[in-house]
Amino acid sequence: MKRGCTQCGECLNVCPVFALFKREEYAPKGKRLLMEPLDGWGSEEPMPWKIIRDLSRLCAGCERCKKACARKLSTSDLLAEVRASHPHWSQYVWDIWIRRAGPLWPTAGRLASMFPDALTPEALQSSLDTARAMADSAETQTWFTLRPSPGWAAPSRPVAVFSGCTARNIRPRWTEKANQLLRAWGYEVIERPDFTCCGGTLHHAGMFKAQAEVQQRNVERWKALGKPVLAVFCASCKHSLDGYADQEGLLDENDAALWRTSVRGLSALLEGAVIRTLPAAPATPGYHQPCHWGDNDPDRPFLQRALPGLTRGTALCCGMGGILKMSDPDISARLGKNCLAGFPEACRSIVTGCSGCTMQLASVAPEGVSVHHWLDIVELEPGL
Ligand code: SF4
Ligand code: SF4
Repeated sequence: MKRGCTQCGECLNVCPVFALFKREEYAPKGKRLLMEPLDGWGSEEPMPWKIIRDLSRLCAGCERCKKACARKLSTSDLLAEVRASHPHWSQYVWDIWIRRAGPLWPTAGRLASMFPDALTPEALQSSLDTARAMADSAETQTWFTLRPSPGWAAPSRPVAVFSGCTARNIRPRWTEKANQLLRAWGYEVIERPDFTCCGGTLHHAGMFKAQAEVQQRNVERWKALGKPVLAVFCASCKHSLDGYADQEGLLDENDAALWRTSVRGLSALLEGAVIRTLPAAPATPGYHQPCHWGDNDPDRPFLQRALPGLTRGTALCCGMGGILKMSDPDISARLGKNCLAGFPEACRSIVTGCSGCTMQLASVAPEGVSVHHWLDIVELEPGL
């Protein structure tokens, strides 16, 4: 792991946790001051979990600090490394929840939706709200329709949709919509490619072995399918998949180069879309830009064409990333609420392009504010 923080403080301005607490020890700079010298801690006795938890819970895994840092130091990676070397039972529960319990997610969402607020202990409220957001009860409205432009010819290379855990387990309609759009664009779409978790959240949890297993499985599927283009509609999955090319021993040099050009945002594949905005579209929808799109966000320009009043929120991060949901659901919820507070009052409908951001913001949205993945507000032009 790269070290060598110069304590320049550039990362202070971009860290959502520092913005929340305004305390330097909660910023990447402070965490590095405390944790970089910890090489070797644990060689005789493990670092107490309480210290690990107190240090590592204060990170949303947004990677904004890495982008701001001249040395490109990733504090979320440093925290993952510390978690990996100091395991705790909760990490194994997280691994089971992500890799094995997916079929139970819809039931968990339905049960949470039935549970009365009046009987919910305050300490569990944000966890319950998160579980409720998993229930698929929201009525969706079409804001705009799409069709390919006349004369558009899709490249001949096949495309497989990488759904990610959220869509696979609780929003299968996002995958169906993605497949439908790609087919209408003339792509040869590989049905049911059978990928698994991208591994991003397992990395943040410090479950490096589990992460390596899912990465290996996804790469094997990609090769077995003939190395197709991967269409991704979740910014966090895309960020994690992008990292495969730099993962030592996962892909050989040629495959790594091909992988880099294969992982694409879904909206970037819908080139030359002819868009028809419908009356149901709000005049000033909000756009939450997922941290993991970074400077390479294909969704925002795509949505702006359909929704001229699209207004980007000013907050830094929704608080969903990393394992903050597990390690400190209340801080995660506070970041989510701050995120929604960063939109003008007129933005009552928020759209985004990350499965995790969608679920997080939906779980903290006040009455009258709705949150959508963009796949929920778009339809193929009727007749296509
Ligand atoms: S920007 Fe990088 S070098 Fe500067 S304080 Fe933050 S982590 Fe350290
Ligand atoms: S990854 Fe995000 S939340 Fe974590 S330390 Fe860096 S800027 Fe802060």
